[in-house]
Amino acid sequence: MPASHPPPERQCTAHRSGDGERCKNWALKNMRVCRYHGGANGRSKAAAERRRAEAVVDAQARRTLAALGAAPVENPLVALSQLAGEVNAFKDALAERVNELSNIRYSTDHGEQVRAEVTLYERAMDRAASVLGTIARLNIDERLAAISERQADAVIRAIDAALAHAGVTGQLATEARQVAARKLRAVT
Ligand SMILES: [Zn+2]
Repeated sequence: MPASHPPPERQCTAHRSGDGERCKNWALKNMRVCRYHGGANGRSKAAAERRRAEAVVDAQARRTLAALGAAPVENPLVALSQLAGEVNAFKDALAERVNELSNIRYSTDHGEQVRAEVTLYERAMDRAASVLGTIARLNIDERLAAISERQADAVIRAIDAALAHAGVTGQLATEARQVAARKLRAVT
């Protein structure tokens, strides 16, 4: 064992063949495993290079966003919902303007013209229809309310750990896990 104990995120994730315990040696740079657990082979090196390249692109994208002063979209479904609200409010504001017009057409040297408010209102209606159509296709309300499968998995793992800690094993643990899974599925 090395003198310095690696932090959890730098520990080798492989399990020792002898006793099945986690290895916990230092993982090689940009890798999840140590030299004894495949860290030195070609596939691991290729994966490490891919992760390194992705980290570079990710950092570049974040710098670009920061320069634009744009906050990254954490949840596209929430962002789409907000956009729909704004588009709809804009459409309603234009509808009021159109209602206030006494004539939707006016005369110019080039003949009759439709007022700009009417054109903008029509465009806003099209845009609102398109955003609302997108939301309807995505089942956005259901998906916003749903707990994702990954979150459910994390919850199940936490329940397993809690059961193990409490000394609950065997049939009792299996049943407890099934009850939790059923409850999670009910909100999915
Ligand atoms: Zn290892």
